[in-house]
Amino acid sequence: MAKRDLYEILGLAKNASQDEIRKAYRKMAMKYHPDRNPDSKEAEEKFKEAKEAYEILSDEQKREAYDRYGHAGVDPSAAGMGGMGGGGGFGGFGDLGDIFGEIFGGAGRRGQGGPQVYRGADLRYSLEISLEQAAKGFDTEIRVPSWENCSVCDGSGAKPGSSPTTCGTCGGSGAVRMQQGFFSVQQTCPTCHGSGKEIKDPCTACHGEGRKRVEKTLQVKIPAGIDDGMSIRSMGNGEPGVNGGPAGDLYVEIQLKPHGIFQRDGDDLHCSLTIPFTTAALGGEVEVPTLTGRGEISIPEGTQTGKTFRLRGKGIKGVRSSYPGDLYCHIQVETPVRLSEEQKKILRQFEEALKSGGDKHSPKSESWTDKVKNFFS
Ligand SMILES: [Zn+2]
Ligand SMILES: [Zn+2]
Repeated sequence: MAKRDLYEILGLAKNASQDEIRKAYRKMAMKYHPDRNPDSKEAEEKFKEAKEAYEILSDEQKREAYDRYGHAGVDPSAAGMGGMGGGGGFGGFGDLGDIFGEIFGGAGRRGQGGPQVYRGADLRYSLEISLEQAAKGFDTEIRVPSWENCSVCDGSGAKPGSSPTTCGTCGGSGAVRMQQGFFSVQQTCPTCHGSGKEIKDPCTACHGEGRKRVEKTLQVKIPAGIDDGMSIRSMGNGEPGVNGGPAGDLYVEIQLKPHGIFQRDGDDLHCSLTIPFTTAALGGEVEVPTLTGRGEISIPEGTQTGKTFRLRGKGIKGVRSSYPGDLYCHIQVETPVRLSEEQKKILRQFEEALKSGGDKHSPKSESWTDKVKNFFS
């Protein structure tokens, strides 16, 4: 197979600058990297091709040889081209690390030559609270996991009398260089997991961890108006960092218990209010529950099921709100049950009285009857 022109591979002009070459290669490497295109032979070929092109064009000497003699000038297998460096060594490509950093993002941060430093993991704590507690806010204490140095080994993780040794795999740096695809990549040392230390004789009390999980009590201030699903962050109360890295954070996640009367919708509250059909017909004062106590609604005569009354400001003042929300009472008219003969008699008389008044007493039935009539005609 004839080899493609190296400039063409990278989509460059013959007079491309080193910067352009580097950028073009970076773009190709990102696009066709085997880790991003698993099982794609085509991508692998493209990646390999781009890498070879870059290897030559980024080296002024090799580039000159290529410009002058074409592929024959840089083919390591071609006779007389010693010193071109066949295979292996990627040592000269300082920016490959950058590309990998960009593609894969480093998991840990590295101090100057020291072992890898990791931030501790965040912890989540689910706290179930009542609607009343959410509305008013309150202070509470929670028990959360915490870690303290193992007293037996004094935090070293090694059996008393012994001490951790420098990791033989990485020489204490916490990282090793591994061949991955066509790149040599820096990875966290699989032996010491980045700590740079090896414990041959682990402490039996902490199994070599150097720390013990204990519990601690944390004061948490729940702000008034907090809602379901919101979290309160407690900085530094997550898992401790590794090798002196910062601790993670603790997130207290709020879960609202369902309430017997109210449903919350943001700052507003909703409740269902059942009234007798006589009150609905005649009107009257009805007592309604609110979060802060009792309230009253004046029901006008002729109130129907589904009618909503709003009590301004009787909702909840959200954490970021300036005013409290409203309370919506949804009216439910109740049909009387288990009537005595006497009560039924009165109702029948009442029914007769209604009939003499025609349809005007039942505005909904009237319009409904009209609809049904139109539907059948
Ligand atoms: Zn220990
Ligand atoms: Zn190691």
